[in-house]
Amino acid sequence: MSGGKLAIHGGTPVRSRYLPYGRQLIDEEDIQSVIQVLQSDFLTTGPAIEQFEAEIASYTGAKYAVAFTSGTAALHGACYAAGIGAGDEVITSPMTFAASANCILYQGATPVFADIDPRTYNLDPKRLAEKITSKTKAIIPVHFTGQPAELDEMITIARELNLVVIEDAAHALGAKYKHSSIGSIGDMTMFSFHPVKHITTGEGGLITTNNRLYYEKLRQFRSHGITRDPEHMLENHGPWYYEMQFLGYNYRLTDIQAALGISQLKKIEHFINLRKKYAAMYNEAFRHSDKIQIPYQSTESESSWHLYIIALHLEKLKGSRKEIFEALLKENIGVNVHYIPVHLLPYYQDLGYKRGICPNAEQLYNRMITLPLFQGMSEQDVQDVIRAVNKVLDHYSK
Ligand SMILES: *Cc1c(COP(=O)(O)O)cnc(C)c1O
Repeated sequence: MSGGKLAIHGGTPVRSRYLPYGRQLIDEEDIQSVIQVLQSDFLTTGPAIEQFEAEIASYTGAKYAVAFTSGTAALHGACYAAGIGAGDEVITSPMTFAASANCILYQGATPVFADIDPRTYNLDPKRLAEKITSKTKAIIPVHFTGQPAELDEMITIARELNLVVIEDAAHALGAKYKHSSIGSIGDMTMFSFHPVKHITTGEGGLITTNNRLYYEKLRQFRSHGITRDPEHMLENHGPWYYEMQFLGYNYRLTDIQAALGISQLKKIEHFINLRKKYAAMYNEAFRHSDKIQIPYQSTESESSWHLYIIALHLEKLKGSRKEIFEALLKENIGVNVHYIPVHLLPYYQDLGYKRGICPNAEQLYNRMITLPLFQGMSEQDVQDVIRAVNKVLDHYSK
């Protein structure tokens, strides 16, 4: 998409060039890091993977880290390691990307959607408690937009009932929950390195955990269910011998990707600071608007600001979300919607999930618009977005 379209009133758009909602920031150091691996002995299962895992573990304060080919594969691994299987129920948020629930289906278990808190947009611990049955095996809270979910309340429930807590922290690398880093708290925490996330490996994901048993299962799951560790083998025929002990997958990240991740991770504080600065500029510009609701910010946690979402007060506007969204696109602002609630997706509808089961998520979906937020944008870009939003809201003002 590029310029040339007419904005509202048929006038010139606020921007002549399209601004995406998110994109990677790659520098010369990143490129050199990848080239070094290409010239080395190992393209996969080499030292760059171990280094990347060790550095993410150290950054998040977790004991162990296991890299995967994607965040989705990492969630699949976590569901396997947690022992989730047929007949089990796993509770998650409907306000997330499909992968948070698909990983439950991969293991033959049943996703159960508990509604969000309309203020934080995160899984509401009270709604979560209502959904627990004798079949509940695990919970997958999502730190939506980078704002940590109410982990204390959820972990208390989980400990009492022996449930596994798998955090979907695809949005929350670098976020803090009450002074603890996300990644060091729940039983297992998933991060994603897709290009729109905080740091990228092209595609990639990872699980952090403090539990040795989960760590070992995750590593084995990532590589066909195979072990070469003599201590864990039933027999040992010789130095070539390995055992495949369960059905795993090939979910191994390459060293080429890990090298990019190592280099990107060096810049994480800078990336997060830029995101925080831009989010603060949006907050300042929209704080007093009666037409939009700005994102909730907890006083005891620290968001790492993956997404900046505004929710429209439609009763104060004469346009629909769709009209306002399209008007912003015509201003060359790359807006988006995160997310269509998972239970409303056709595949989930066919599984029998009904519209109406999560009214807060469904109502929010009808009002939300994601504004551009990424480390590669400039303050001028942020000002352009603010101008475009104000222009469009004025136009559709009642
Ligand atoms: C990106 C994302 C995932 C999946 O990660 P991939 O690396 O793209 O597989 C899962 N959950 C959420 C909330 C995400 O944003």
